[in-house]
Amino acid sequence: MSVNCPTCGKLYKSKHFVNHMKDKHGWTRAEAEIYYVAPLPENIPDVEMDLMQCPFCGVEIPSNLIVCWGCGECVDSHIRELAEMYRRG
Ligand SMILES: [Zn+2]
Ligand SMILES: [Zn+2]
Repeated sequence: MSVNCPTCGKLYKSKHFVNHMKDKHGWTRAEAEIYYVAPLPENIPDVEMDLMQCPFCGVEIPSNLIVCWGCGECVDSHIRELAEMYRRG
């Protein structure tokens, strides 16, 4: 699977994304990995879970999701802060 770099917007394959975020933006491997490992709707187990509304597109998503599957925005506040920090430089 591919993912957009939240800072420069380029599309990377997941493995290259991890290296890119480490080398270019100073993320740790773990941060880059949790950023792109977002469960797809069909992979969600049929159990009760906390849902929240995506603040960007309004789709209901599990509250532990990192990236909204409706609009692709990052909904993890920690990762967002990181991304905005690097965007500012
Ligand atoms: Zn980048
Ligand atoms: Zn969304």
